[in-house]
Amino acid sequence: MTNVQQNLIQIKENMQEACALANRNLSDVTIIAVTKEVSVERTQEVIAAGIHHLGENRPEGLKMKLDAIIDEEVKWHYIGTLQTRKVKAVINEIDYLHSLDRLSLADEIEKRATTRKDCFVQVNVSEEESKHGLTSEEAEKFIKQLANYSRINVIGLMTMAPNTEDISIIRTVFRNLKQLQEKIAALQLPNAPCTELSMGMSGDYQIAIAEGATFVRIGTALVGKEKEGIV
Ligand SMILES: *Cc1c(COP(=O)(O)O)cnc(C)c1O
Repeated sequence: MTNVQQNLIQIKENMQEACALANRNLSDVTIIAVTKEVSVERTQEVIAAGIHHLGENRPEGLKMKLDAIIDEEVKWHYIGTLQTRKVKAVINEIDYLHSLDRLSLADEIEKRATTRKDCFVQVNVSEEESKHGLTSEEAEKFIKQLANYSRINVIGLMTMAPNTEDISIIRTVFRNLKQLQEKIAALQLPNAPCTELSMGMSGDYQIAIAEGATFVRIGTALVGKEKEGIV
């Protein structure tokens, strides 16, 4: 068994536990393997282990994986900040964008995308200066402004928890994102079903699942950090 397979067994156990406690089904949470720090070979191991949702955060890394991995089943997630001038190279290669956060980016997607694109609006719930994303208030206003964007489908919201050991702070951030998602979904806005929640990484995916995550973005805990030789 590969290390990736072993890691996946552990992660699924933890996810199952979190789901059981929250009265949720494991099948309602999709694992995105974040492969931004690992090789094509390690990424192939992820696919062999049965994970078909892959996340990259740079145009170069995405291109490298796309060129090497020809697999119809793979869904590509772009989880990093996307510069407007990179939209052309990226948008038609991916299935999901997790970092929609401004009108200039929406405009460029509208212009470049050849099909309707599933997007998460990135929210900086904790309003940390170092993090990208809109405040909760801005996010609601922003999504309302997307009504006429035929190439954008806001399937949900994405956030990153603050860098803290304090579980209660992390939990509050995830809970607030869920509340915002429900509020926006209830508005039934054009182009914004807003039913999904992309939240939870290696260190906090169990908390995120307890609070309603439907997509978790797991890097290190699943694929290790090859540069440092840790798996
Ligand atoms: C790198 C990254 C992840 C994965 O982080 P890990 O802690 O390695 O699981 C998830 N989401 C985003 C946006 C990232 O940039």
